[in-house]
Amino acid sequence: MVDTSLYWVKNVSWWEASLFIVLLNILILVSCIIIGNKLVSMFLKRPVASIITTRPYEVVLAGMTVFFNSAVTLIGYYLWKNEIIVLSTSFGWRSWADILVLLIIMDFAMYVFHRLAHMKWLYPYIHRTHHRFEDPRPITLFALNPLENLGFGLLWIVVLCVYPASWVGITGYLFFNVVYGLIAHLGVEPFPNSWVKHPILKWISTSTYHTQHHQQEHYNYGFYTVIWDRLFQTMSPHYPSHFAKKLPED
Ligand SMILES: [Zn+2]
Ligand SMILES: [Zn+2]
Repeated sequence: MVDTSLYWVKNVSWWEASLFIVLLNILILVSCIIIGNKLVSMFLKRPVASIITTRPYEVVLAGMTVFFNSAVTLIGYYLWKNEIIVLSTSFGWRSWADILVLLIIMDFAMYVFHRLAHMKWLYPYIHRTHHRFEDPRPITLFALNPLENLGFGLLWIVVLCVYPASWVGITGYLFFNVVYGLIAHLGVEPFPNSWVKHPILKWISTSTYHTQHHQQEHYNYGFYTVIWDRLFQTMSPHYPSHFAKKLPED
């Protein structure tokens, strides 16, 4: 059943594949904005940034991100079609474990690339665009410089070329990636105060955590976890003391 569907997907025309990929990326953007805004309204009493409603430049960048994310997906599709990326269709436990493996690999790789993106010689060309927004909101997740978009997209493709993941693994990972990116850019904190005191959960990043990165650029580079920032001593001195609170004005 899965194999038959994948055979069909592998043999559609390039026009059909491109149209499907663009529509999928538009659907992801629109869903994130709708679900994100709903979460913002539910947790308005826990702001970690000022609540902004109009920033037209951000909307233009989000539109460009849909285009570049679609281009990266199409490159991945080409590599899969030509069997440079090989994905298993099994549903065994190892396929499910791939979700965790990919999260760990990408968490570390993105920490390293994020720190590189903050180097003086790279920052103005690829990452400053995302940092124009000190007060994140759901759409800020998509407000990226095209070069940054392509950089992270290509990093993901390289991982898939090197690591033989499963369909279950990449689908689960991409789902968590979008959910986590959205939580990071809500501008409000949906997690309870007990989160940062819990022995296991405290290692997982929060909305407060990434918002503090938008406001204090040289701290909190991590994405899904706080492990690498703790290890390399780049965690904000205001985390977790200012969890679910705005940073003091200086
Ligand atoms: Zn951000
Ligand atoms: Zn940054």
